[in-house]
Amino acid sequence: MIHLILFGPPGSGKGTQAEKLIAHYQLAHISTGDLFRAETSQKTELGLQALEYMSKGQLVPDAITIGMLRKKVDSMPDVKGVIYDGFPRTAAQAAALDEMLCEKNEEISLLLALDVPEEEIVSRLLNRGLTSGRPDDQNEEIIRKRFQVYLQETAVVYNHYASHGKSKMVNGVGSIEDIFCRLCEQIDPLI
Ligand code: AMP
Repeated sequence: MIHLILFGPPGSGKGTQAEKLIAHYQLAHISTGDLFRAETSQKTELGLQALEYMSKGQLVPDAITIGMLRKKVDSMPDVKGVIYDGFPRTAAQAAALDEMLCEKNEEISLLLALDVPEEEIVSRLLNRGLTSGRPDDQNEEIIRKRFQVYLQETAVVYNHYASHGKSKMVNGVGSIEDIFCRLCEQIDPLI
């Protein structure tokens, strides 16, 4: 079974590319951001807890995030493979994911990081904020905070999988189709 991490700062195109990849390779998609937004819109206890952090551009604490991810993984039917989008975002989340997969005799196949510069991220997200309805996309200060959190807390995850020879950087600037082709070039040899 293939386990792919789609990595990169907020606004690097993970969600857009994940949608195309799941259709192309028939994989399941887990986006922790989407899971949190579903919880907040249903005003569940978990959603209300998560909102406190999301609205400030901070990460939701690991215990909450890992618990939610485990529940999702356990509830999934048999699938050919999984794309993790927006998870893991800390060293502790990466360790928890490795352990979860190890229990199932599985492991991460590849981490693909979309490389997009900060100024391009800010302009993409402000643009997305005009239509997405996401409050965290409508405020430049929060967007820059999310980018800093990515550099300070999340980039270590790239190094974690790089030390096992599993991280690849992909140019995330260009047309959606061109970026999709760059990702497929990396995934095809694993299929
Ligand atoms: P995203 O849609 O991936 O940009 O996530 C939106 C927000 O949800 C983030 O800014 C965090 O507050 C929260 N979030 C999503 N995934 C995670 C994660 N793996 N760990 C902690 N917080 C997360």
